[in-house]
Parts: sequence; C-alpha cells; structure tokens
Amino acid sequence: MAADMDLSALRAAFSGRLLTDPCDMAPFLTDWRGKWKGRAFAVAQPDDANGVAAVMRWCHTNSIPVVPQGGNTGLSGGATPDDSGKALLLSLTRLKRIRTVDPVNNTITVEAGVTLLEVQDTARSSGRLFPLSLAAEGSCTIGGNLATNAGGVQVLRYGNARDLCLGLEVVTPNGEVWSGLRALRKDNTGYDLRNLFVGSEGTLGIITAAVLKLFPLPAAQVLAFVAVPSPRASVALLQLAQERLGSGLTAFELMSDSCISLVEKHVPGSRLPLQDRSPWYVLLEVSEARDEGQASSEIESLLESALEDSLATDAAISTSLSQFDALWALREDISESQAAEGPTIKHDISLPISQIADFIEVTDAAVAASFPSARLVVFGHVGDGNLHYNLSPSPDHKTVESRGAFGALERPINRMVHDAVSAHGGSISAEHGLGVLRRDEAAHYKSQTELNLLRAVKAALDPQGLMNPGKLLNNS
Ligand code: FAD
Repeated sequence: MAADMDLSALRAAFSGRLLTDPCDMAPFLTDWRGKWKGRAFAVAQPDDANGVAAVMRWCHTNSIPVVPQGGNTGLSGGATPDDSGKALLLSLTRLKRIRTVDPVNNTITVEAGVTLLEVQDTARSSGRLFPLSLAAEGSCTIGGNLATNAGGVQVLRYGNARDLCLGLEVVTPNGEVWSGLRALRKDNTGYDLRNLFVGSEGTLGIITAAVLKLFPLPAAQVLAFVAVPSPRASVALLQLAQERLGSGLTAFELMSDSCISLVEKHVPGSRLPLQDRSPWYVLLEVSEARDEGQASSEIESLLESALEDSLATDAAISTSLSQFDALWALREDISESQAAEGPTIKHDISLPISQIADFIEVTDAAVAASFPSARLVVFGHVGDGNLHYNLSPSPDHKTVESRGAFGALERPINRMVHDAVSAHGGSISAEHGLGVLRRDEAAHYKSQTELNLLRAVKAALDPQGLMNPGKLLNNS
C-alpha cells in the first residue's frame, strides 16, 4: 500500500509520535461513548504547528484523508474516522503550550491541545476569568472547542467559543501555516477567516493555536435552585431576571423533574434541595456582584417578585461553596444519569427564546400521543434558547427486547422533533455540531442555496476533499 511505503518519510518529517500498532491506536478510533468506531492506517501526534504542517504536506502530496482530533469528547462523531482505514488520524493533544497571557489586553494565547480546564486555571492564576465552561472541560481541548464552536453554561453572559476567540493559527490542507493570531477586538480587513474555521469541525483546516478573551474574575457567585410551574413561567422568570440583574445573570438552566429524579436515582448523595417536587426547575446563577451579600440580596429580591407573580413556587439559594457545587452537580449529572437508565434518544436544539414554551407544549403532546413508550428527559441552557430535548424508555420498559424496540423509534422521533424545531424557527444543532450524527438531517432542513454556498467554501479551501471527509457535509 502506498501509505505504508511513505511512512518512513512521514516519520522523519515531524517531531512527535507516529502510532501504527492497533493497540496504541485503539483509543483514538472510537469516541468516548463508544457510539462510533473507525479505522486509520496511522495516528500522528506532532509536538507543534510546524509538525502539523509537515504532516499535512505529506497527506496532501499522497492524497491521504485527515481526521483531526482533540480531546475526543465530541458528541456528533466528528473526530472518529470511517471504517475504510484510509485516513490518518491527526491528534493535536501534544500542542500543549500556553504561549502568552496578556492581562492588560485581557487575552491568552494557547495551543490547540491545551485542555479547557488548563486555560481556565491559567487565566485564574493571572487573576482573570476564561468563562467557557462545560462538563467535559478536563478532557476537551481548545482546538476542539473552537472547531465545534462549543457552548456550555455561561453563554448567556459571555457567548460561545466563537465569541471568545479573537485570533487563530491554522494549518491549511496543503500544509501552509496561516498566522491569524491577532489579539484585536476590532479588525475590519476583509473576509473573516477566523469565523470560517470556528465551527468547521475539522473540515477546512487544522487549528493549531488561538487568542482567547479573558474577563475580570467575579467577586462572588450565588446560585438559586427555583421550582417553576412550567417552561412558560421559566421564560417569564428569565425576562424578569435579565431586567433586574443585567449582565450579572451568568447562567439560566431549565430542568424537568424527570431529570432531577434520574440524578437522585443514579448519583449517590444527590437530592432535591426543596421540600416539594415541581414539574420544572430553574438553576439561576448571579456573578460579578461586588460581594456575596449583594449577590444574595439581588437574587432574594428577584425571587420575592417571582413568587408574588406565580412565576416560581419555591427556591433554595446557595450559602456556601459546597452548596453552590452541589446545586450545579444536579444539573451537570443529568447526562450521566440518563445514560445509566439505558438507551437514549437525544436532540441538541436551538430556538428563539420566545418560542421555547410553545415548542415544549406542542412537542411534548405530540410525542406523548405517538410514542407512549418514551419518557421525556428535557433540560437545557434556556437563557441561550438551547434545549437538550432527550428521551429515555418509560420505566415499564424493563426487558432488553422492549429497550431494543425503543431504539427503533429514533428515526421517527427525530423527524417529529426536528420538524417541530424547524416550524418554530430553530436549529437542529445548537452546540454539538453536525459531525456524522446530524449531517444529513441538517441538509434536510437547509435550502439548496445554503448547501451550495457551504459546498463552495469547502471546495475553495479543501479542493481535494481530504479534510475530515464525510463530516458536516456529505461527500456527494
Ligand atoms: P474532539 O471531540 O476531539 O473533536 C470534535 C470535532 O472538532 C471533530 O470534528 C474534530 O475533527 C474537530 N477538531 C478537534 N480539534 C481540532 C483542531 N485542533 N483543528 C480542527 N478541528 C479539530 N459541548 C458543548 O458545546 N456544550 C456542553 O455543555 C457540552 N457538554 C459536554 C459534556 C460531556 C460530558 C461531554 C463528553 C461532551 C460535552 N460537550 C459539550 C461536547 C464536547 O465536549 C465539545 O464538543 C468539545 O468542544 C469537543 O472538544 P474536543 O477537544 O474533545 O474535540
């Protein structure tokens, strides 16, 4: 095979590791959930951007497809190669340098393989906040965060990965290095290449470094766990909170009671912090206040009004760091608890906030009528219009056979949910990207004009079609 013949040239071309042993390569060839599995003829782990460029030049010359991978925590199958074994898997995890921290400019420049947690910690040790935050932060990398335009729990106040990125260094499919590491908040000098690469899921080039925005560290953070009667009440509470708290409102998460019940069942020590159950709960975070007392009194006054207006029925407020962490854990443990319950059908959808209550009412009723064997497990970043509209088998599905039958509902349920998303002006992927999971579904809802424009961009930047083939756009 031509690739075998050229491997010594590849090995000599860069500093880093080249893995070809199947056991060494195995962890790179399946995603963290084990949902996708693929093959590759080698895994390359260069130490720096020049090494990435050398690998890309070799792949370009030999017409080898490349699958970029960061922390391999993506949820859409974007970092797993297909099963042809023709691709090279390019792991960016050895690009680990923090290049600079500039507290005056409020920026940090890091290489693609630095984990999100390492960026947060480095920023904090310089007295700054890097606000991107998600449950996989100990493993996911900045390159992967930018390639998927990750969201998480602070988007409401600080924006998603795209909003937090000022500049990029990218290796192009033919192995050139584009240094766009500009630490500028204003730069109107033509087409925005940075924004083309952000969210491109490794289909246009390899992100090797980025300039990211930093913020002042909040003086205090207080969390309220609020019982609300309905999603409609939660949206009204969000509006009230935004009016009262302005930019002090840093997170606003909605969770159904079925989510919290699953966490209580599967995570030892977790419990509802309120006396009575409610069909829905909101987790509301206030930061940036001058001190904890001020943050608490702002939340208390907001909740008094919410209780008077029947937007809320009860609430608990964190008074210590351990309570703050325990309340956040109820939200962050939902995915893991749902997985422990058996097969899942998941949707990462985005809606105009004004449409969320209607969407949930209409879609819940339609799903219940057509799929009585499904149980809704709905939660999400409602402050950003992002819902994880998930389903599990109802508790009476105890046998393997009936659970298998639940899996067979995935296609018709996806169609019903995504049609409803489209009818409410939403998007079928809010923060997890398309990968292979949502690629064809996205094409189903996009116009031919939009698809043509996307294909034109891909053809211009990657004329050989070697970058992460079959991800985001299909090959035809
Ligand atoms: P990978 O999984 O390795 O790759 C993801 C995609 O990016 C692939 O298409 C890959 O080819 C491409 N890619 C990776 N690195 C590069 C690079 N340097 N250059 C070019 N392309 C590259 N996501 C959210 O948005 N919000 C959440 O709240 C959230 N919560 C999560 C919770 C858990 C428990 C888990 C497991 C995942 C969660 N995710 C969430 C998804 C995931 O963590 C993010 O998508 C993350 O940004 C992926 O980073 P990664 O380094 O693991 O990328």
